[in-house]
Amino acid sequence: KRKKHRNFPMVPRVVFGTGSFDQLGEILMPKRINSEAPVIFLVDDVFEGAPLSTRIPAIFNDQIIFISSEEEPKTEQVDALVQKIKLDFDALPSGIVGIGGGTLLDLAKAVAIMLTNKGSASDYQGWDLVQKPAIYHVGIPTISGTGAEVSRTTVLLGPERKLGINSDFTPFDQVVLDPDLTQGVPKEQWFYTGMDCFIHCIESLNGTFLNAFSESYGEKALDLCKQVYLSDIEESDSRDKLMMASWHGGMSIAYSQVGVAHAMSYGLSYVLGVRHGIGNCLVFQYLEEFYPDGVAVFKEIIQKHQIVLPKGICSQLTDAQFEVMIKVALSLEPLWENAIGTDWKTAITAEKLKNIYQKI
Ligand code: NAD
Ligand code: ZN
Repeated sequence: KRKKHRNFPMVPRVVFGTGSFDQLGEILMPKRINSEAPVIFLVDDVFEGAPLSTRIPAIFNDQIIFISSEEEPKTEQVDALVQKIKLDFDALPSGIVGIGGGTLLDLAKAVAIMLTNKGSASDYQGWDLVQKPAIYHVGIPTISGTGAEVSRTTVLLGPERKLGINSDFTPFDQVVLDPDLTQGVPKEQWFYTGMDCFIHCIESLNGTFLNAFSESYGEKALDLCKQVYLSDIEESDSRDKLMMASWHGGMSIAYSQVGVAHAMSYGLSYVLGVRHGIGNCLVFQYLEEFYPDGVAVFKEIIQKHQIVLPKGICSQLTDAQFEVMIKVALSLEPLWENAIGTDWKTAITAEKLKNIYQKI
């Protein structure tokens, strides 16, 4: 019998180019159900009072909600936003637009899903649990790397775990890629979020799930990352390229999976609240055993940009905390299966993970 292949949804519409943000008004117009059904803009609060906020095409009773990305998105935060929107308006919104990094993009996807599906966002963390199509949702990244703009997941911190809502209804209906929006990103953040993309490529290209589909996107993304982080290209060129690296990196893991760094980073994030990009880097530097070439390039990049990674993150942890961290990491079975193979449980032990965590 033939293997059944997965049938993935993709983002159906995307616009790329400097200044394309200003087309948002005309993009939204035909999607407006009526003047009562607003478009809700969820915007990173780093843009509150910034020129970008005055360019948001809000009309009728549209609402702009500024949200801090200080902490990664939580299921209860999604539930509260959905409830607020339902209370504030009689009609369901015409659309949700997320403007920001992975945090705001994930919030926008989750809110769009939860406006049409009942219960709490935490009920849908996992694979293919969403029953009804989300409302129209648009993603506009302002920092490049996570691939959240193309992915089929929205990663949320829930009461029991950090896990994505992976579903056919999760991907955006429209993405606007305007590289100029990434202009103000601080250097450290540019590094951490960009390395998320780099690590996506390494984990995908070195995984057992790899096929020609994933490989073609992963190789392109890796090549773009190397141009951005290791050669001296012009700034605007670099912004364009990192935005496309993020896109391709996201496409690459769609058909494969991430691996060891992500599994262990989820543990760090769950117990200590360490954010995704930095958590991946903290783990990845110690993964020579799994990704020797990738770690060597990573160290070259750190050197070139004189990045100093924080140390001693796990030094104060109790045994109980280590246990939770390890449990969260090991629960991400598909990631381990991709990284190591179906017999991963013989190679990966709690002891081994603890040794790595202790170095961080
Ligand atoms: P982020 O959204 O958390 O933002 C990081 C920082 O950059 C914030 O302080 C933000 O205010 C700032 N920032 C963003 N754009 C800026 C700009 N143009 N100018 C100045 N500052 C700016 O960062 P991220 O790394 O993009 O996203 C991390 C999140 O993405 C995590 O929650 C992670 O779980 C999620 N993620 C999701 C997927 C997915 O497929 N859905 C994949 C990877 C990561
Ligand atoms: Zn990632």
